[in-house]
Amino acid sequence: MIPSVLPTYNRAPLEFVKGEGSWLVERDGRRFLDLGSGIAVNALGHAHPDLVAALHEQAQKLWHVSNLYTIPQQQRLADLLVQHTFADTVFFTNSGTESCELAVKMARKYWYDQGDSDRVEIITFEGSFHGRSTAAIAAAGSEKMVKGFGPVLGGFTHLPWGEHDALRAAVTDRTAAILIEPVQGEGGIRSLPDQCLKGLRRICDETGALLILDEVQCGMGRTGRLFAHEWAGIAPDIMMVAKGIGGGFPLGAVLASERAASGMTAGTHGSTYGGNPLGCAVGLKVVEIVSAPGFLEQVNARAGALRQKLEALVASRPEVFEEVRGSGLMLGLVCKAPNTDVVKAGYDNLVITVPAADNVVRLLPPLNITDDEISEALARLDAAAVQVETAASSC
Ligand SMILES: *Cc1c(COP(=O)(O)O)cnc(C)c1O
Repeated sequence: MIPSVLPTYNRAPLEFVKGEGSWLVERDGRRFLDLGSGIAVNALGHAHPDLVAALHEQAQKLWHVSNLYTIPQQQRLADLLVQHTFADTVFFTNSGTESCELAVKMARKYWYDQGDSDRVEIITFEGSFHGRSTAAIAAAGSEKMVKGFGPVLGGFTHLPWGEHDALRAAVTDRTAAILIEPVQGEGGIRSLPDQCLKGLRRICDETGALLILDEVQCGMGRTGRLFAHEWAGIAPDIMMVAKGIGGGFPLGAVLASERAASGMTAGTHGSTYGGNPLGCAVGLKVVEIVSAPGFLEQVNARAGALRQKLEALVASRPEVFEEVRGSGLMLGLVCKAPNTDVVKAGYDNLVITVPAADNVVRLLPPLNITDDEISEALARLDAAAVQVETAASSC
């Protein structure tokens, strides 16, 4: 008999009932150190008092009015994002996959309005993840995601990761946009070198193609800058945001330059819930905190400490780990042992991590994790590694 919850997930047998900062409390009372943050969503940890207050205050006033009317919280959040980024304009969604939908539509509409209605192709990369809607799975293009769900939305060209010549050759006068994650999340914490991001920007400038960055996972302070592309000193034309921006409340956004957004006039796109007062009240508080002076410096300091300790862990447990990769507080442990064994051993030792492709264990702790918590995390990860080593040597 089919379970009452559609069985599309492989769930761990854990049931959390409470969250406090970097900690999750299981139903049985065990306290887990959370280095997953609900897959980079709880950017400020669980139950941050300022976010709780923002949500509570808005909940007492007004939940929903629809986008038929002015929503002041939405306006303020858009203004703040425009102030702190390349963007001239923002559309709010409820998720990353919805942001992908709009990014694709926006790029195609731009060229249509330029009188170039054949210019519809979007170049994407192997190992990428952009969500689960039909456009998002077509964009990623992996067999695992699209098989059985055809006809797959057309107009996407998938290139291998990091092959410059293939990219050069693939960009034609039918290329509407290039879509890429500056740091692949699901794909195994694979960072695009700054030089490559600069190169992509150059190709787009030369050909007119729009550069769409998917910063759903790597954005909102995760890499130590507000958005990951800032490290390369370039700006996209369109950017997808979600996950961390809501701090746990479902919220996403598409940020765009005036040029890229020029086709999106009244009636061309919409969302019932996107940009609702509750989500925007929380998102506003998240962006205020993450963009406040000094916050990202602290993220970088913590990231440096965590990385150094992880390098030592990898060196001391060579049978389990191969290397550390990633940037800021978006780190991956490339494993020698099966990554799922490491994640499970983590559960046994009360530390939460998240598996990713390429046999990687992802570490996406809250951006405000403390130094003591980082030390505790390492002790627990080491205990998990010992457990994996011991299990391997006994069979
Ligand atoms: C999670 C994710 C998405 C999809 O976001 P949803 O909110 O799950 O729809 C898209 N892109 C990237 C890079 C992601 O990590």
